[in-house]
Amino acid sequence: MIVRILGSAAGGGFPQWNCACFNCRGVREGLINAIPRTQESVCLSADDGDWFLLNASPDIRSQIESFGPLHPGKSRTTPIQAIVLTNGDLDHCLGLLSLRENHRLVIYATESVRRGFTDSNVLYRTLQRFAGQVTWRTLKLGVEETMLCADGRPSGLTVKAWAVPGKPPIHLEGLISPSDPELNVGLRFRQATTGRVLAYLSAVGRITPSVYEGLEGADCVMFDGTFWSSDELSAPGFLEKSAEDLAHWPVGGQGGSLSMLSKLTAPRRVFIHINNTNPMLREDSAERKIIEAVGWEVARDGMEVRL
Ligand SMILES: [Zn+2]
Repeated sequence: MIVRILGSAAGGGFPQWNCACFNCRGVREGLINAIPRTQESVCLSADDGDWFLLNASPDIRSQIESFGPLHPGKSRTTPIQAIVLTNGDLDHCLGLLSLRENHRLVIYATESVRRGFTDSNVLYRTLQRFAGQVTWRTLKLGVEETMLCADGRPSGLTVKAWAVPGKPPIHLEGLISPSDPELNVGLRFRQATTGRVLAYLSAVGRITPSVYEGLEGADCVMFDGTFWSSDELSAPGFLEKSAEDLAHWPVGGQGGSLSMLSKLTAPRRVFIHINNTNPMLREDSAERKIIEAVGWEVARDGMEVRL
């Protein structure tokens, strides 16, 4: 299995257009040891020919252009067989509207995520230019299924979604139930021939027994690295909300994900979906040293993992 990180930042990217935090200003002006990052999206393939996108970020156009194997081979085609959504956040769905060029799309999502994107969304009509433009394939919690290419061929990969604590997307707050288990999922991808497993959880609101279960036996874990600390946005006065309020369990400190996941044995452990305020982004920071000392990595755009 080939896993390629197209974008590794949380919503807003790094740097973020309206942010002059220490990291954003530092990376713009070349004052810190860090590289820019686009918003979280990953693609994976069993055999280097058929590709699946995990989440469709607002940066999708440049992300596809950044990676040759995603380019069309001839005429108007694409090696991208389907897009898999982990939740309905705009940072994960907005890119779908950029894939509107009269092309058939296949999207894997839970029924709740599908409804959140399609119901009462007048912009979704741009993906209904002809009958059958979008095929939705429903992810059912706890069910492992073969991932099919756009034309129905088996891809050599399976997917299993499981419920992970999250919250409704901001644009649906107050409109849908915040306790719906289908709002936010972790995904396990398994290659049929080798049995190798990627566990992908880019939004984790709380670390529960179910989170641990989904990580079991994975060869690679990509985990929510949004915030280092709970007050990362509130302390500098950016937003009166904690990391936990935003359904992203912080990495650092006592009870942070780094310590709660210390027993994890996956050979590759990667933090992804990193907010621009996170000190882990600086390659020479104390926080980066702490996570690297125990074998974790910080995702960057263009990173590739072969399982
Ligand atoms: Zn910033």
